[in-house]
Amino acid sequence: MRVVSGIQPTGNPHLGNYLGAIKRWTEMQHESECLIFLADLHAITVYNEPAQLAATIREAAATLIACGIDPDKAILFNQARIPAHAELAWLLNCTARVGWLNRMTQFKEKSGKNREGASVGLYAYPVLQAADVLLYQATHVPVGEDQKQHLELARDIATKFNTDYGVDLFTLPEPLIGDTAARIMSLRDGSAKMSKSDPSDMSRINLIDDSDTVAQKIRKAKTDPEPLPDTVDGLEARPEARNLVGIYAALAGRDMKDVLQEFAGQGFGAFKPALAELTVETLRPIKARLDELMAHPQEIDRILEQGSTRAASLAQPTLDGAYKALGLPNKR
Ligand code: ATP
Ligand code: MG
Repeated sequence: MRVVSGIQPTGNPHLGNYLGAIKRWTEMQHESECLIFLADLHAITVYNEPAQLAATIREAAATLIACGIDPDKAILFNQARIPAHAELAWLLNCTARVGWLNRMTQFKEKSGKNREGASVGLYAYPVLQAADVLLYQATHVPVGEDQKQHLELARDIATKFNTDYGVDLFTLPEPLIGDTAARIMSLRDGSAKMSKSDPSDMSRINLIDDSDTVAQKIRKAKTDPEPLPDTVDGLEARPEARNLVGIYAALAGRDMKDVLQEFAGQGFGAFKPALAELTVETLRPIKARLDELMAHPQEIDRILEQGSTRAASLAQPTLDGAYKALGLPNKR
């Protein structure tokens, strides 16, 4: 079993990234071969301040380590250090069909009303993502709800390439779907997911937020005046309330039903402080470790360099195989 997964260094990782992705990676690294990368080539699909991007790549790497990713176990690297990602993405661009990409809902969401003004990279983003996992012959890819469609696309591209060129080159990656409670929504809008790219910082809890900021964001989180119900069904038409209960449950490692049994009948005046305390306590050790790591930026660069050397050697045979299958002579 080989697992490949990534996170965009577009801003600081938030609680949604932690509960929906990073925490699972820290568990999986003990059972499987894990490649975890910072998707910096994905980050540039929208404008990113260059000086800041370099800093956020380092910060995101440090955050992953602070959360428990062990660079001696998992292979931790950033995409841009390995040219094979961009190379394979181009080869796969020629296999992917325009009609397939036109169906990707994330492009529609991210390009918004200004579709004509979006970068070609933002449009072709899922093809780069396919390259990221196919390059390493990933057998499993942990995906949140927001990425399911892209993994399907990666499978379609792999199948078409293998069929068109009569090879058995790409492994079809299987999704590893997390439990639905781990889809964390914005604190300002229960129908939008918590996201690094949300312009409002109040919509998310960043892993680097200090305790006061965390408490304040939770205090100000959108809710309703009703007390908490005693069943999960009672939260159906209350997305914001549901989200907060879901966060509590995910942090406590309990199910929502169990949490509701404890808090049923109480209002948010009582629930929010309990949630704030639990969140602060969970983030405290992560933040302390992060501060320590950020004091040694050269060490983080060294870890990324080492990870990319390991990853590049795993990527090369697939890339060579793709050139060969296509009939492209290359230098290697
Ligand atoms: P961006 O807004 O820049 O796309 P993002 O917040 O969506 O940032 P990504 O870097 O795209 O974060 O995603 C990293 C991982 O975190 C992915 O596995 C994704 O499925 C997961 N993830 C992102 N947002 C959430 C969320 N709100 N709840 C649960 N998992 C999430
Ligand atoms: Mg995203």
